Amino acid sequence: MLIGIPKESAPGETRVAATPRTVGRLLALGHDVVVQAGAGERANFPDELYAGAGASVEPGTAAWRADLVVRVLPPDTEEVALLRPGAVLAAQLSPAHRPQLLESLAEQGVTALALDAVPRISRAQSLDVLSSMTNIGGYRAVVEAAYEYGSVFTGQVTAAGTVPPARVFVIGAGVAGLAAVGTAVSLGAVVRAFDVRPEVEEQVRSLGAEFVAVPLGDRTAGADGYARELDADLQARVLQVYARECVEADIVITTALVPGRPAPRLVSAETVARMRPGSVVVDMAARNGGNCELTQPGRVVTTHNGVRVVGYTDLPARLPTQASQLYGTNVANLVALLTPGQDGRLVLDLDDEVQRALTVTHQGRVTWPPPPVRVS
Ligand code: NAD
Repeated sequence: MLIGIPKESAPGETRVAATPRTVGRLLALGHDVVVQAGAGERANFPDELYAGAGASVEPGTAAWRADLVVRVLPPDTEEVALLRPGAVLAAQLSPAHRPQLLESLAEQGVTALALDAVPRISRAQSLDVLSSMTNIGGYRAVVEAAYEYGSVFTGQVTAAGTVPPARVFVIGAGVAGLAAVGTAVSLGAVVRAFDVRPEVEEQVRSLGAEFVAVPLGDRTAGADGYARELDADLQARVLQVYARECVEADIVITTALVPGRPAPRLVSAETVARMRPGSVVVDMAARNGGNCELTQPGRVVTTHNGVRVVGYTDLPARLPTQASQLYGTNVANLVALLTPGQDGRLVLDLDDEVQRALTVTHQGRVTWPPPPVRVS
């Protein structure tokens, strides 16, 4: 089968869905690969490297005419029209938020695979682009904080005086939060973290950070292992703890999300007003409404008391080389799953709950949402 890797067209998108290394894996599965000229440029993968890996590099829209087209972000209307009826498209499609895109892909006769709908179960971990991208985002959040912060992270004893280590507080210790904790610890900061799922305490500690203890009872996570929205009394209790921790910290990194809900509001304007000048808040939930009341998506806001609130929504795209490599590896793992004979033939098995969960249009119909997946 021919696999097409078109260039990303969204402004500011720097990633690419395959790298020269992952092209090698696609070819080894018996497929051919066509890459749109310049597709990897912003991720530091020039055309020559793709050609050297065995892909054909074509200008224009050839990559859109392939049997399987893979992208990082969804196609726009004109790009949907380039897809051949019967083709397969794999990309992060936000199916819950883009019903119209799904309708137009179904109308076009395209089988669409939403890479951001991969079930969060152990068996599907190797395909999980959400984890790959939020892991990169957590790392980059600390880099952005370090850039905005006027001091070093690590404590130093120098001839010119002693510098205390930066104090970092991380709210939410899922994939992004744990990446942020690990990165801040490795830069020498003193890190504290909290999550409403108490089982992450051990993971936080194993990274060299302290877990902030708040007795919460057992009402904070659902049967699926994800966080629930907190009851009003619990919410009030954690907000008090957050206010205290934020005021003590130099850097606050917020990553809290509850599936299917807007991001919980956890850091108030009043709390930010009590933080020291030069402190930094990086709000990784900016795209989903923000954990901090002052966050503006895509921007850095400096408050009247000199606190910077960073609301970037493109953190993974700020590390395009590594992000593309991880994304491309997730894609190659998916293609391996869909090529059971390793013979260049794509076989979609809708009886497999993982493949069914990410198939959002098929045979002219929208097939989202899928039946629930068993948690394992
Ligand atoms: P997420 O992005 O949905 O949320 C981020 C974190 O915010 C979570 O840890 C959540 O508990 C926390 N949170 C929510 N409300 C909060 C609040 N008020 N205060 C503080 N923290 C709050 O989560 P995620 O990073 O995608 O991962 C969540 C769960 O899914 C974890 O159990 C993780 O291990 C699991 N997971 C499993 C797989 C897999 O098996 N394939 C992959 C990724 C994640």
